This record gives sequence, C-alpha cells and structure tokens, in this order.
Amino acid sequence: MPPLPQSRHLATQIPGPGSVRLAQRRAAAVARGVSSTLPVYAARAGGGIVEDIDGNRLIDLGSGIAVTTVGSTAPRVVDAVRQQVSEFTHTCFMVTPYEGYVAVAEALNRITPGDFEKRSVLLNSGAEALENAVKIARSYTRKSAVAAFDHSYHGRTNLTMALTAKSMPYKSGFGPFAPDIYRAPASYPYRDGLIDKELSSDGQRAADRAIGILESQVGARNLAALVIEPIQGEGGFIVPAPGFLPALLAWCRDNDVVFIADEVQTGFARTGAMFACDHEGAAGMAPDLICTAKGIGGGLPLGAVTGRADIMDSVHVSGLGGTFGGNPVACAAALGALAAVEEDDLVGRARQIERLIFERLGRLQADDDRIGDVRGRGAMIAVELVHPETAEPDPALTKALAAACHRAGVIVLTCGTFGNVVRLLPPLTISDELLTEGLEVLADELGKL
Ligand code: PMP
Repeated sequence: MPPLPQSRHLATQIPGPGSVRLAQRRAAAVARGVSSTLPVYAARAGGGIVEDIDGNRLIDLGSGIAVTTVGSTAPRVVDAVRQQVSEFTHTCFMVTPYEGYVAVAEALNRITPGDFEKRSVLLNSGAEALENAVKIARSYTRKSAVAAFDHSYHGRTNLTMALTAKSMPYKSGFGPFAPDIYRAPASYPYRDGLIDKELSSDGQRAADRAIGILESQVGARNLAALVIEPIQGEGGFIVPAPGFLPALLAWCRDNDVVFIADEVQTGFARTGAMFACDHEGAAGMAPDLICTAKGIGGGLPLGAVTGRADIMDSVHVSGLGGTFGGNPVACAAALGALAAVEEDDLVGRARQIERLIFERLGRLQADDDRIGDVRGRGAMIAVELVHPETAEPDPALTKALAAACHRAGVIVLTCGTFGNVVRLLPPLTISDELLTEGLEVLADELGKL
C-alpha cells in the first residue's frame, strides 16, 4: 500500500457518499446510544492524518481520544503486532502466562513516578483499570469509601459512572450507582478565579477546601481512596493550581488513604512528561496507584494499574484478573509503542507541540474575547469558549466551531462539564506543517462564527 500522504485533502463534501451509505447501514444495525463525533468512516490513518472511505484526508487533532500518541500505524507497533499474531493471539495469562505481560509490567513499573518497589496488573480499558484500583485500595486499607472530584471522568462501567461527575450523557438514567462514593470540589483555576483570585492560584487553599469537605462529610477513617485525574480530561483539560495535588497526596499519606492518579488520558508522554504527575512539585509526585490505558497500547486495548508493591500485593491470590487482561497482541503493541516514545523522544516532541499550539492560540485569544481561557500541557491543550460579558459558558459556539472544523477537514473534539471546551490532542507524530494548518483552520472558522 502506498504511504498515506501527509496533507489535508477534501475530495468530497463531509460526509461523502460512501460515508452516507455506511451511516444508513449503521442506523439499522448499531445501537443508537453509541455516537460518533464526525460523520465520516475511516479507511486509513497515520502520522497526523485520518483518511476516510471517500478519499478525504483530515488533519487529526484528536488521536482517537488521546490513544494514538505514537501515531495510528507506528512501525514498531505494526511490526510487533504482526509478529505476535503469527505466534499466538491468546492463551490467557491466568492459564498459561507469557513474557509480553511480564515485560509490560516491568516497563510500567520502571516509567511510572516513584522510586519504590512496584507491581502492575494489566486489564482491557481505562474504566477497568479504575475499577481494579478501587478494589485494590479497599483490600489494602480495609475501608470502603472513595472520593472523586467535580468535573471528573473515570469511565462508563457501574463503579466508574459513580466516580464520574457529569450526568448527561454518561450517567443519566443508568442508576442506581455504586455506593460509598463522595465528591469533593476540584481546583479549576479559570472558573475559581472568576469568584476568588487566591483560590485560583493557591493550590493549597483549593486542597484545603476539598479536604475540609471530605473530613466533615466522609471522615478519613472511612476513606479507602481518593481518585483524581492530575489534569482533568473530559471535564475540560483543567490543570489544577500549583500545589493542589501535592497537598492532597500529603493529606492521603497522613491519613492512610490510597492516592489513585487516573492518568488514562494524561499518561504516556501526552503532557510533555511521561506522566502528568511528573509536573507536580519540584521533583514530581508519586501517587500510590496509577491507572493507565489509552496511549499505552499503541491503539490496541490495554489498561493497567501500577503502584506500591505493598498495596498491590495486599490482594489475595486470584483476586485480580480477567480473560483478556494483558492480551499478548496488546502487550506486543504496548512494548512497540513504548520503544517509539523513548527512542524517538516523544516527550520532547509533546513539549514542542505545546509551544506551537500555545503560541497560535495565545494570539487568537488576544484577538477574540470569546476565548476565556487557553490551557493544558504538552499535546493536550484546550480553549474554553465563553460569552465575553459574563464568562458564561458558550456550548453553542463550541459545537458550531467543532462542526465547522470537521467540514473543513480538521478533527477536533469538544469536552467540558459545560460543553464549552474545544480540545486538541494531536498524535505526537504530526508534522509542524499539518499542526499549524489545523490551527489556522480553527482560527479561520472561529472568525467566521
Ligand atoms: N479515565 C480517564 C481520565 C479517561 O479520559 C477515560 C476515557 N476517556 C477513562 C478513564 C475511561 O477509559 P476507557 O474508555 O478506556 O474505559
């Protein structure tokens, strides 16, 4: 197959006739509850491009929701997967184990923050990683309550729906939810700052607010774990105020509460560090348990919980597992993806991407007061769109902007508790030229609205 040209190209309207036909078949076959951001059907993807079945080539600023960090056809991933499927696709690690699983666990133990002894368990998805982290924390502490935060997203299974903050579309009508889950206020510097300047810049104060609520409404003696995304993803790419996360970690350590970092979206070079926790404090911070998924599998489904050996090994033998967890093909892909991240310095590449995006969006913000905030780290940057007079969220403009970008051949995603954030998550293999072009399209389309 010829290489996929790294250029934006509109061969038809979006969606083209092939995609329209598939949409009709889909309507009769696929459950309505599963939605898609764009109406085009993919044929090929790689570098910074997704090509659809009508020959349209779109600039990819979404990475399949932060998954294809190393690209969608990274040669090391493709080769490793080909090799593995020709040897065996599955035996089940719980029946006859294999080296790939052990090698991925070793790699995760090595690259995750913290120089203590660690263990890992491999799973199928982000939600399953969160489910298991909570099981492990409860087993270790012999306590049951779990704290999550406003604006959080942790998945769609029953326990993770309870952890997730937003009702529509994730939870509405799907209750009852798992019990003994409590919610604390997060640090949201932009929105906090509209009310209280100090709260927006002083992470210790924001942490004290959350801790005060947890102490009075739950009690540390009942709390098994605190679960938090170091940069909130679906909630709006919210980078907490400096000091917020370290203050929460210190409180957890003092109170025998397991600190679980959900790095499903932020992990694996995405934020310009191997993990978002690496940005916190002078030398980074080391959570007790860290959940990963998305980017670690190089596009194949894989999740993991990695953490302190004493906590991980508190679980009885056979208490963790699952038929497909740590599937050998997904493990081969993960080892290929990790080699790409380390050998191609994709952490450094994420920092370059951050500079490029901030520079362009900073200029855009200076010219357009509907952009309330530009924030994020690495290749995980967002704009929050507001009504300029009041800073009220503007979800209608957000939706219109995303749709206009899609029609112009640029994949952007939206997010945010109030639906008013456009987020950029390019693969780290995108060229500067494509990224710049994508940002120009975004700026042009916003100018027309
Ligand atoms: N946690 C975070 C922070 C996420 O962003 C997501 C997915 N968007 C999940 C958990 C759930 O991951 P999955 O969809 O693989 O279950």
